[in-house]
Amino acid sequence: MVCKVYFQAQQPFLLLSTPEDGRFPVEFEQHFFKKGRESEQMTTKQSEMTTAEWISLANARGVPVPAFNIPYLPMMAPVSKAIVDMNAFALIEVARLEWRKFESKSPQAVITEFRKWQNPEHMRLHLDHIPVIDEDNLRVDYLATIREAIDLGFQSVMVDGSRLSLEENIAATRQVAELAHLSDVACEAELGAVMGHESGPLPPYEELFASGKGFTDVDEAVRFVEETGCDWLSVAIGNIHGAISKASRDAKKVEAKLDLDHLEKLWKATGIPLVLHGGSGVRQEYVLEATRRGITKINIGTEIRQSYETALKASGDVVAAQDAVYERTCWVIRDYLLIKDSLTKLNGAE
Ligand SMILES: [Zn+2]
Repeated sequence: MVCKVYFQAQQPFLLLSTPEDGRFPVEFEQHFFKKGRESEQMTTKQSEMTTAEWISLANARGVPVPAFNIPYLPMMAPVSKAIVDMNAFALIEVARLEWRKFESKSPQAVITEFRKWQNPEHMRLHLDHIPVIDEDNLRVDYLATIREAIDLGFQSVMVDGSRLSLEENIAATRQVAELAHLSDVACEAELGAVMGHESGPLPPYEELFASGKGFTDVDEAVRFVEETGCDWLSVAIGNIHGAISKASRDAKKVEAKLDLDHLEKLWKATGIPLVLHGGSGVRQEYVLEATRRGITKINIGTEIRQSYETALKASGDVVAAQDAVYERTCWVIRDYLLIKDSLTKLNGAE
């Protein structure tokens, strides 16, 4: 793979700003801009870059890109406003369980709301977790849902085959990656077990972390990426999802740690941008270091969902709940991930 050339050259963080003549070295372009620049039509104008190109650029520069989950449609407006006001680049995303178990209704309803508030320079829409086997252990018609979202205009998609065997996960992911790439849509996949969505109780966190149980295996990850052609990989390195069952969704999330050395091995071996699920509640120093070792897309769900639910419960007022989401989203961007003005940084003007 082309990317390996970079690591062998020991320059994984090359190009911290746009070259003065506006031209990138050929190898950089071949790796980070899918179409290369063999013709003069190629341009790095932000609005024309695919989401995959954005994430690869962010990965090369160690800039985190948060992906904010929208379990309630009124969260779309304040999240979008916060991203623009903070001059950041971010994704907005919705998972199947958020329109089934929360109140975002459907992929159609989400994209309709997104189009009201979107600013293409600052944000893209992603389809989060479409499981092959869902959190209740039921088979899902994942391909139909993903095809529908691509047709609606979602700009990247995730297939989650993590409850399958390795062989089955590879087969399902390859199928989705091929489908997505036909429309120039990026495909995220998951390998390893990022726990927390299941209805049963989790084992004690410290026990889980110490054992490394469910962590993404390096050799499996290499094979997985080569055989599936996925663009980004969600890895299990100590991160966990926030609880979603009615009984425990209000509970404070356990403060998770990350195995950073293991993460770096995964990044160097696969050479693609990695994704951190369960980004809410991970200790800040771990998250920031993780973005220097391969993590680019960071899913933020629980953090902003609980602000919405808590404020709505206390006030009964959707506007007050939206204000709370706006404040919390600004906090995630500015104070937690430290990426206020990340758009400018990605554009190359340091
Ligand atoms: Zn997730």
